[in-house]
Amino acid sequence: MDTDVLVVGAGPTGLMLANQLARRGVRARIIDRHAGPARESRALGVQARTLEIYSHLGISDQAVALGKRADGAVLWAQGRRAARVPLGDIGRDISPYPYLLVLGQDDNERLLRDALRARGLAVQWNTELVGLAQDTDRVTATLKDPDGTRAEVTVPWLAGCDGARSSVRELSGIAFEGAPYQHVFFVADVQMTGSMAPDVLNVYLWRTGFHLLFPMRGTDHWRIVGILPPHLRGRDDLTFEETIPALRHEVGTELSFQACNWYSTYRIHHRRAAHFHDRRCFLLGDAAHIHSPVGGQGMNTGLQDAYNLAWKLALVVSGRAGAALLNSYEDERLPVANHLLKRTDRLFSLVVSDSRLAGLVRTRVMPRLMGLAMRRKSVQRLAFRTISQTGIRYRNSSLSEAIDSLPETAPRAGDRFPWLRLKFAPSGPTEDLFEKLDDTRFNLLVFGQAAPPGGIPELADQLRVHEVPSDPANDRELARARIPRPSFYLLRPDGHVGLGGTHLESAAVTRYVSERLHFGAKGASRPPRGSLTWDAHAATRSKA
Ligand SMILES: Cc1cc2nc3c(=O)[nH]c(=O)nc-3n(C[C@H](O)[C@H](O)[C@H](O)COP(=O)(O)OP(=O)(O)OC[C@H]3O[C@@H](n4cnc5c(N)ncnc54)[C@H](O)[C@@H]3O)c2cc1C
Repeated sequence: MDTDVLVVGAGPTGLMLANQLARRGVRARIIDRHAGPARESRALGVQARTLEIYSHLGISDQAVALGKRADGAVLWAQGRRAARVPLGDIGRDISPYPYLLVLGQDDNERLLRDALRARGLAVQWNTELVGLAQDTDRVTATLKDPDGTRAEVTVPWLAGCDGARSSVRELSGIAFEGAPYQHVFFVADVQMTGSMAPDVLNVYLWRTGFHLLFPMRGTDHWRIVGILPPHLRGRDDLTFEETIPALRHEVGTELSFQACNWYSTYRIHHRRAAHFHDRRCFLLGDAAHIHSPVGGQGMNTGLQDAYNLAWKLALVVSGRAGAALLNSYEDERLPVANHLLKRTDRLFSLVVSDSRLAGLVRTRVMPRLMGLAMRRKSVQRLAFRTISQTGIRYRNSSLSEAIDSLPETAPRAGDRFPWLRLKFAPSGPTEDLFEKLDDTRFNLLVFGQAAPPGGIPELADQLRVHEVPSDPANDRELARARIPRPSFYLLRPDGHVGLGGTHLESAAVTRYVSERLHFGAKGASRPPRGSLTWDAHAATRSKA
């Protein structure tokens, strides 16, 4: 076997996974059934957490230069400006990227493909997965060329990043629970002028629906997403011109359109796979969860699924950790998808409901409540953390442990460690912590006590140690993030706190590394979750 992980699907999720595996030395192969990259841009909101990950990948500067920053959102109700969400001001001390970056999915994919090529790996197009069989130590995948030729490949691990109609999910017999929404969306890429607030996301709430207007790079360039009025649904030949009267009615009669570069309609579903992990196969991105695009979280969630799985797979493939570590992928990401589905479903139901009461809530109550709530700093911060996905945490994960009592307000095990600017030497410069962290390794941050001179032997070369000296500027920054002295945080490669506490005790760290991270365990001696025989597994599923 010359491939450690077969990545099925070269959308954003598969490309992110292949990149993250390649930079960790894993032999990945990435295939896609299409002849080449998709040309439609589809998703267009890149959240702050994704940009933080892009930064480690070396593509955040290019993404920011290519995209358009939306520093916030303006809410319009019945044509009147009702509230403003100033993302830029709120997120300034939470992330180096305190905005929503409007950048089409096609551009995101191109950056990811270029980064992958720079690592010596290219997508193998025209290659479709059509068969899958698992046994205890391998997966046999049947691949088909466009001329119908079939070939079998055997790999230790397989990642299904193959979108909403995932073959990996279907061939594994994993249910995709949920339902379609009755509404039909439209998306239009246009050149237009009107009363929209510039450089921000404009949200138009109306008695009978909503429109989202995203500012795009270039003059008067906007992307419109909305739901079709009922009388236009069910038509395959619909044109943008036929949507304009409803748009003018809801967004403003003064809208003037110069060009429409792209127009498409689509139905959406809200669904989640019953499992994200079946023995040697994983589901990520749209293959695992799909939901309403309200909130711009879909593509970002897939990218972050990949970031969560990649470091774990790399440790298992290299033989450093036992396969049991991989169970934490589903344990951590399935609740994130659940939460997202519930939240987007609630929000979506409210913004599309045809009932008179919902119409009143949407146009009268919601904007007023939002206007009032957004004056409170705590609400602002919660809004930023939720939208930007910097608030995603894994506090209930088996990988999250506190060894002694940190204050309730301090960062906790499972949290994304906060973004800080610190001095790492007594008279040194102030540096960006996220730039100091090596995301291909664990990072141990030590405050107010000496770091262990030999590091943590069990983690060996998988660890970077950062001792933060006492300094007035550091103390202010730590107080802002409510980090006590003394304390220590062992960060996982993806920047989440694995182990935290006040006093660094090597015995506790050793125990954490072996019991929670499964270092030193042999993959074969700890079989991955669901390691039943194929038939027994199928029987279990059909009963469910
Ligand atoms: C019109 C439209 C507008 C959208 N707008 C937004 C938005 O504004 N915001 C947002 O967050 N999300 C939006 N989405 C959703 C967003 O596009 C998805 O969340 C995102 O594409 C998921 O990426 P993925 O890599 O998981 O899957 P995909 O992008 O679907 O990629 C899956 C890949 O797998 C390949 N594949 C499938 N089956 C096989 C097989 N058997 N063998 C080999 N290859 C296979 C496919 O060819 C494809 O390239 C939109 C979607 C659509 C359709």
